[in-house]
Amino acid sequence: MGVLRWAYPASRDELRQCLRDGARLHGGGTGILRRPPSEGTLADLSRTGLDEIAVAGSAVRFGGTATFARVLGAAHQLDPQHVISAALSTAASPGLRNRITLGGSLALFPPWSSLLGPLIALEARVELIGAHEGGVPVSDYLENAGLRRRTAITAIEIDPADGWGCHWYAFRRTRFTYPLLTVTVLTRHEGDSPASVRVVVTGCRGRYRRCRELEERVAADGIPDAVASSDLGTDFRDLQGFSGEYLAHRTAVEISRGLKTAGGAG
Ligand SMILES: Cc1cc2nc3c(=O)[nH]c(=O)nc-3n(C[C@H](O)[C@H](O)[C@H](O)COP(=O)(O)OP(=O)(O)OC[C@H]3O[C@@H](n4cnc5c(N)ncnc54)[C@H](O)[C@@H]3O)c2cc1C
Repeated sequence: MGVLRWAYPASRDELRQCLRDGARLHGGGTGILRRPPSEGTLADLSRTGLDEIAVAGSAVRFGGTATFARVLGAAHQLDPQHVISAALSTAASPGLRNRITLGGSLALFPPWSSLLGPLIALEARVELIGAHEGGVPVSDYLENAGLRRRTAITAIEIDPADGWGCHWYAFRRTRFTYPLLTVTVLTRHEGDSPASVRVVVTGCRGRYRRCRELEERVAADGIPDAVASSDLGTDFRDLQGFSGEYLAHRTAVEISRGLKTAGGAG
């Protein structure tokens, strides 16, 4: 029978060494401990000091081990309507939000993630150490598996979202279950028309989708009366008794609502 060892890196260099040795990272443990490994090394990140949250110039920097609860508090202080605040306030339960970390959540990016849509829409940057060092756009981190191998997320940087109006929506069977899909809409207006729009859907085929064609159409032609599911550029599998067709329709309706209500000053 294999043996599972724990490591407790207390600095960036010790964390780098753990990554070189092939250790798996343990943030909040809420994902990894669903199917705990029975051998190898788990490097617990709680002593690395990577949980700092700092406002630097026009950007906010959340440490990779900052919990959902602390990030939610910081985002709420920046702006009670902040998209991260809206999304994380309904994620999991209060007890779990005290454990779930930003780094673990982004590295896992489950289809029900409450974090993914806002981070993609805000065009966040992810700071890494290990086999790859430095900052990368969140979309690169998600699309390039090479960036996720033997690396640790040390921080996530976002624009404070000044001027963006937001609409956040999660569709779930009950208040306490995982979202089946999420919709994030950001809009910034010039006069009555949106000058910029960002629309991200999660839970769809491929886990997430930034609806760029729709964004461009809305910025050019204004808000449509209704968004159709064929405008999303993706589709949904049947899930938990809901047909893929219904989930796509639900998503399109929610995007329509978001485009009309998100607001945002130019
Ligand atoms: C009942 C329940 C309901 C939930 N509901 C929601 C919800 O509504 N919305 C939501 O967004 N989430 C929800 N979650 C949380 C989600 O499912 C994951 O469990 C969570 O995002 C994982 O974060 P963690 O910090 O616990 O990561 P861990 O479990 O510690 O790690 C997850 C993965 O990330 C890797 N990892 C950890 N930290 C880092 C790092 N800093 N850098 C690189 N890799 C790292 C690990 O090696 C592992 O592969 C829920 C969880 C539960 C149990």
